[in-house]
Amino acid sequence: MSNFAEKKPHAVLTPYPLQGHINPMLKLAKLLHLRGFYITFVNTEYNHKRLLKSMGPIPFDGFTDFRFETVPDGSTSHGDDVSQDFQSLRELIRTNFIDSFRELLAKLHDSSKSGLIPPVTCLVSDSFMSVTIQVAEELALPIVLLIPSSACSFLSALHLRTLIEKGVIPLKDESYLTNGYLETKVDRIPGLRNFRLKDFLTCIRTTNPNDSLIEFLIEVVDRFHRASAIVFNTFNELESDVMNVLYSMFPSLYTIGPFVSFLNQSPQNHLASLDSSLWKEDTECLAWLESKEPGSIVYVNFGSTTVMSVEKLLEFAWGLANSKKPFLWIIRPDLVIGGSVIFSSAFVNEISDRGLIASWCPQEKVLNHPSIGGFLTHCGWNSTIESICAGVPMLCWPFFADQPTNCRYICNKWEIGIEIDTNVKREEVEMLVNELMVGEKGRRMRQKTNELKKKAEEDTRPEGGSYMNLDKVIKEVLLKQNQT
Ligand code: UDP
Repeated sequence: MSNFAEKKPHAVLTPYPLQGHINPMLKLAKLLHLRGFYITFVNTEYNHKRLLKSMGPIPFDGFTDFRFETVPDGSTSHGDDVSQDFQSLRELIRTNFIDSFRELLAKLHDSSKSGLIPPVTCLVSDSFMSVTIQVAEELALPIVLLIPSSACSFLSALHLRTLIEKGVIPLKDESYLTNGYLETKVDRIPGLRNFRLKDFLTCIRTTNPNDSLIEFLIEVVDRFHRASAIVFNTFNELESDVMNVLYSMFPSLYTIGPFVSFLNQSPQNHLASLDSSLWKEDTECLAWLESKEPGSIVYVNFGSTTVMSVEKLLEFAWGLANSKKPFLWIIRPDLVIGGSVIFSSAFVNEISDRGLIASWCPQEKVLNHPSIGGFLTHCGWNSTIESICAGVPMLCWPFFADQPTNCRYICNKWEIGIEIDTNVKREEVEMLVNELMVGEKGRRMRQKTNELKKKAEEDTRPEGGSYMNLDKVIKEVLLKQNQT
């Protein structure tokens, strides 16, 4: 074992401990594994327990050169199967994480001394985990930061400090949330054309001059220049305007996505069964889709962290029912604020011949099923890029964080989606579902999404932009340590 252990490059990957961050990091881990890397993938104890529960231990055994490690998550009071609170995770990263991470690397170092594993040669961290840069510097290891969001939302995050300095934020008082102020155009940021305040990360909607989330993000952004490289799960064709601005700001920046497209086209997929779903997937919905007409189903899913009131859920429910279109709706156990919802028998009867509700599903498989014709989404970046890679147009109901930014690009720049008002009403849902599924606009959006899907495939094939960028990141950054 020690022979091979000496030779293989060994990457330690650290996702931010939420579903939407673990998924792209696991995909990147698979891509690096396919290129010959030994992988250590680091989860929090809480998430690792959830993974074992949702998938069973088998998927984690038997993969050569691919192992999972855990770090403590600092808290014992989680409910079952819920996304951890963003604020407490931030505190964890700020306080306990760095010491646990150092201990883990020391343990890996000891194992490598015994010849059990190859020595660690590089780190790959989520951008929110940029504290790991400090450890990379201490150990003289190259470190790549993965931006799990779109390049456009990344660019907007870089300008939080500018907005504060110009007095644009914090908001003067709560009335600014509703008095039209958020419609203000922000035209001073190169790369973000026709951008309004409401298109920025939702953290700017604060009246607090010491907002802890904004402070956290500024801290994170300030460390970016110390990374060996920054990589995006996007492709140049999609976000070239924004990337051109970013290239002039950072020396080592690469689009290496979409990972989905990369992996779908990979001739070897021995890691296909290795998944990162924190909830148990309902696979029966795939059998249900089998019996449906091509392009006929509306797929509805608001991701892993969005929550809504019962009132809003019922507006979606009746809008979908009244559209008369068949639908698959994923209602996570913690989607509704204050607990679960029990639908009336009138609703259940109305949709009995055409609606299926499940609690979590294998989203990529669903999106790629031929029966899916449209996606009602919260515009998380993974959902957005997965939808593009499946050629499925969208109805957009952004909730928070980077979702309004993605929504703006989906609807106005790429023209592959239509936005639903925040204050959702059933009549609007009914009308837009019909537009999406059978309307002229829906047809055009489907065509454009398919064009982008093809471009994503081209970019992730040998000779494609993302393919060559990944090669470059591997050879010029991640393997640098090995060559010296
Ligand atoms: N996902 C899934 N099954 C579901 C819902 C979501 O597999 O029923 C996956 C989805 O494919 C995506 C991730 O969870 O990779 C959600 O990430 P996204 O960025 O879209 O949104 P977030 O959950 O971070 O808000």
